[in-house]
Amino acid sequence: MPEGPETHALADRLSMLLVDETLGVVRFIDPKLQRRRAVLEGKRVLAVEARGKALLTAVESGWTLYTHSHLFGFWRFVDDRDALPDGAPPRLVLATVRGVAALYAAPSIALWETDALDRHPYLARLGPDVLDPAVDAKSLLAHMRTPRFDKRTLAVLLLDQGFAAGMGNYLRSEVLFQARLSPHRILQDLTAGERRRLANALLDVPRRAYRSKHDEVLPPGKDYLATTRARFGFQVFERAGAPCPRGDGTITESRLAGRRLYWCAGCQH
Ligand SMILES: [Zn+2]
Repeated sequence: MPEGPETHALADRLSMLLVDETLGVVRFIDPKLQRRRAVLEGKRVLAVEARGKALLTAVESGWTLYTHSHLFGFWRFVDDRDALPDGAPPRLVLATVRGVAALYAAPSIALWETDALDRHPYLARLGPDVLDPAVDAKSLLAHMRTPRFDKRTLAVLLLDQGFAAGMGNYLRSEVLFQARLSPHRILQDLTAGERRRLANALLDVPRRAYRSKHDEVLPPGKDYLATTRARFGFQVFERAGAPCPRGDGTITESRLAGRRLYWCAGCQH
């Protein structure tokens, strides 16, 4: 699943197409949404924002279009609707004079009143977004003191959107490596210094990944990992068997919380 950096890069790409323009055409494949398209069509777009892995497109009518790509959803950008490829139709088409964005495969799509977004079940659960410029180490450290996180392992917490929104599987391995922490550690056992290292890595790694994505159009499906690898470069993710960049061990692959995790027992304690 695309993680926070990819979702924020996508929000930038959608912003270029939509913000301050009028939605000339809006098409949903879902007939219920299609009947409600008038809350978007003909309306000016105020903002496109990423929150966690969701995209929020706010229009002047007081409504916001919520989309979440999950595992398989992906966007295509073309100049003209005729340029959309034949085959499975998009779930959603948004067109302005600048071009067309189409969302494919199996995303979640919903219309919400902008004032009521905080009650959206996905958004209401999100912790601090690691890519939100307003989130700093101090606010992350304060959030880490939430009692329900105390007894959980870092491997589990670093995939929990309620702990840190925008985190995902490649970021989990890379953040733990930068923080020099074992994925098996329990949060409440971390020293103050280790917590600070974790908070710093939670901010630093996703933001570096995001900055590596200038002007990138996210490719469909799992191909985003190939472009992230090429542009950002992984220290440990998908590098099982390779020597650790710190020169003190070999990177191993584990399956933790149901997902692949890569780490070095030589320097991550
Ligand atoms: Zn190492």
